[in-house]
Amino acid sequence: MQAPISQQIVLASGNKGKLNEFDQMLAQFNIQVLAQSQFNVSEVAETGTTFVENAIIKARHAAEITGKPAIADDSGIEVDALDGQPGIYSARYSGQGATEVSNYQKLLTEMNSHQNRAARFQCVLVYMRHAKDPTPIICQAAWEGTINLVPQGEQGHGYDPIFIPHGFDKTAAELTSDEKNAHSHRGKALAMLVAAMKAKGIIQG
Ligand code: IMP
Repeated sequence: MQAPISQQIVLASGNKGKLNEFDQMLAQFNIQVLAQSQFNVSEVAETGTTFVENAIIKARHAAEITGKPAIADDSGIEVDALDGQPGIYSARYSGQGATEVSNYQKLLTEMNSHQNRAARFQCVLVYMRHAKDPTPIICQAAWEGTINLVPQGEQGHGYDPIFIPHGFDKTAAELTSDEKNAHSHRGKALAMLVAAMKAKGIIQG
């Protein structure tokens, strides 16, 4: 019997970790997730003011250039005492030349004058069948927690060393990748996306 032809979906991101995560989750549905860099898709300016807008901008751009369905992810950390900042600006919070360390150090400094340390990671995933898709699938999930006083842990990336998820007494950078995927904003949004794609008949299984 011939193996069924696999479907290809482009991931609108240059992040290898994200590519592996999506590929692992979708391989069981005979879907191959390809990096947009394989098609020379350039980074697009994230000009939206919400995670949803930015994810749509990225997915539309990748679908337009490649002619294939595309998935995009937009994520960040929202801090209550800072009126939701850094939010969509998480990756560029400390300005030009921002690094993961300079970003979380700036956040720790901003938090010096605040008692309320409540925060959450947000993740929006968008699937577009093609660049003009008028009804993209949009899934959004959050991971609640608090901002620690100091950075701790070596795992993960971004703001993980200063984020203590609810239900844990350690930072996200001290969790194994399996623990993180089971609880994180991205893990939950990805499970929602798979369910929505199944419900719409885009994937079977
Ligand atoms: P994006 O890749 O444009 O969505 O940027 C998201 C930014 O939010 C990253 O650069 C990180 O700083 C932050 N971020 C998103 N998800 C996580 C996470 O799971 N852990 C730590 N930081 C994250």
